[in-house]
Amino acid sequence: MLVVLVPSLLILMLLAASCPAVAGETSPWAAWPAMRERGGEVLVWNRAYRPGPTGLPERMRSGGRQMLASPVRLDISCGGKPLRLRPVTALKLVTKPESVTYSAESRGGGVDVTVRALIEPDGMWRVDVEIAPNAEVDLTSLRLVIPVTREHSRLLHWFPIPRNWPRVTFPESWIHPNSGARPKIWQSPFTPCVWIGDEDGGLEWFAETDEKWRPADADRALTIAEAGGAAELTAHIIEQPTRLRKPLKFTFGLQAGPVKPRPAHLRQGRFGYTHWGVFGMETKVREGTSPPVTQLDYLKGLGARFAGMHEDWTDYQGQPRVMDPGKMKSLASACHERGMGLVLYHGLVIPNILPGFEALSKDCLTEPEGANYIHAREPTQYDYPACHASRFASEWCAGIEELFEEYEIDGLYLDGAASPIPCANTKHGCGYRDASGNLRPTYPIFAARETMKRLRAICDARKRPALIVAHMSTMLTLPTLSFADLLLTGEQYWKAPDDFRPPLEFFRTESMGHNHGLPTDFIGYAPLGGEYARTIIALHNAPSSWCPGGTDMWKLYDRFDVDGAKWAGYWSKEPLATTGESNVLVSGFVHKSGRALLAVGNLNREPKQVTLSLAASVKGLRQAMDPLTQEKLDVESAKVDLELGAEQVRWIWLEPAPPRTGP
Ligand SMILES: [Zn+2]
Repeated sequence: MLVVLVPSLLILMLLAASCPAVAGETSPWAAWPAMRERGGEVLVWNRAYRPGPTGLPERMRSGGRQMLASPVRLDISCGGKPLRLRPVTALKLVTKPESVTYSAESRGGGVDVTVRALIEPDGMWRVDVEIAPNAEVDLTSLRLVIPVTREHSRLLHWFPIPRNWPRVTFPESWIHPNSGARPKIWQSPFTPCVWIGDEDGGLEWFAETDEKWRPADADRALTIAEAGGAAELTAHIIEQPTRLRKPLKFTFGLQAGPVKPRPAHLRQGRFGYTHWGVFGMETKVREGTSPPVTQLDYLKGLGARFAGMHEDWTDYQGQPRVMDPGKMKSLASACHERGMGLVLYHGLVIPNILPGFEALSKDCLTEPEGANYIHAREPTQYDYPACHASRFASEWCAGIEELFEEYEIDGLYLDGAASPIPCANTKHGCGYRDASGNLRPTYPIFAARETMKRLRAICDARKRPALIVAHMSTMLTLPTLSFADLLLTGEQYWKAPDDFRPPLEFFRTESMGHNHGLPTDFIGYAPLGGEYARTIIALHNAPSSWCPGGTDMWKLYDRFDVDGAKWAGYWSKEPLATTGESNVLVSGFVHKSGRALLAVGNLNREPKQVTLSLAASVKGLRQAMDPLTQEKLDVESAKVDLELGAEQVRWIWLEPAPPRTGP
């Protein structure tokens, strides 16, 4: 039951009032400004939210753009008649630096509707609804409608539903794409998160459970349809006649993105994260270097600022046991001497070789066993995913805090652990029995969010840049990911057929991060590696050390100074150049000093010869060269002829013509 699964709002409010952070930890909110209220509007970073008289979200502005075409509404019918609700209390916001709460009551047609809400600094807006009958009533239908502004809703993502999960992630993701262009009409069984947006921002709806839901058609529990200036997301909560004898409660949330300000240590387009570090890399010489440099210095030379180490640092997956404490300390201090940070791979899993596994697993693992990904590694073990709603999550966070204290590490790589993994383990309050007696999963979004808050606080207590890398593999859950720094996705396609290429909207939705305020690294494993990966990260301004050309981009971005430049993607109203070919696209930067850097990407699987036509904004730049090869390119009447290999990207650096000299 939901009331068991998550703490009541009252408890949350008490916690917010009396206990902002565990002793010794800072708050998780260091990245966000204090919350404010202005004339009934709640102001969070870059966003302004206004609750309506019934307490439901009425306006949600993000970066100056109105994300709601009209107020969120509950369409309720009793005895076949639509119900009209009248507010009976005036809404009063209780504003604190780290939370805004309120409640509102309305009445009509024999029911009282109470809305209690919590808004937090990252823009997470939780809404608890209670519909209480004065006497028994026949509830004909109950739908929650979120009208998202149509012009900001070209893209769509939904959480991979259990029917397809883990198949969405492994190994048939290409059959069930869950990120891409928003179709005019969409329908889905219940899924806990639906994000609608574009390349600049978006709005995510979320709910942990469909326990109380009785849609007319389980395959249409959630729908999107266009209506006027809106793309309306509808949650079909009740569509089968229901005799309402006691209050009906349900919870949902909304969060507009981007979710956080750009951190100071995101410099020149990157945090500089690299993976696959090993013990001893601070002394081992990198093969083929002349003069010889250590593996760590080699990474630093590529522009790395964080060295990530995979699971090899521990023998028990998901536990804070360090196999070689001396080597760990040596590596951490070598990183610090170089101005770098050490990041450790971690998962919310329990290995079956852990003493006490039997008891812990019964209480804490996600169920059913085998529904989610089970990891295997050496020393021989199976690592089962644990649940954020279980007691293990707290123990796990405490272990991580010890790692930070003992080894002075600088961040965490969370392999799936930032996501609300579906769970039907009733021992810790997850799951429920449906009307036919089947056990169905719930999604511990709020528990995962609390874990992430705690990890953020542990990181920020270090008082130096610390990185949370969330490997979310197509689980774009803003209320849990907003506490991460860097997202990772793309690995879900590693078993796709060789000729598979996702639609470009997939990258714009979940693989670049500009729209979420969460920089995202694409993992370019085959079949999406090689030239293709190099091209796709360039076109999306998403330099990733997991792709060929990723660290070349780091260096190029440094040379060009992208921090002093404005970026325009190939989809913008005015791209910096066009090629006349639909599959040869141009994205790029214009620096405040006037120079420009273009990425021209050929998405065809054969070479192409194109003529680039420079847009008005860069027309005056008459000197061009390929900055990777130093080859000079001719600019004639704002046109550049270019040869591109199959799926190849070419960079073009444009400068104003030198001033005329001489007579
Ligand atoms: Zn659970």
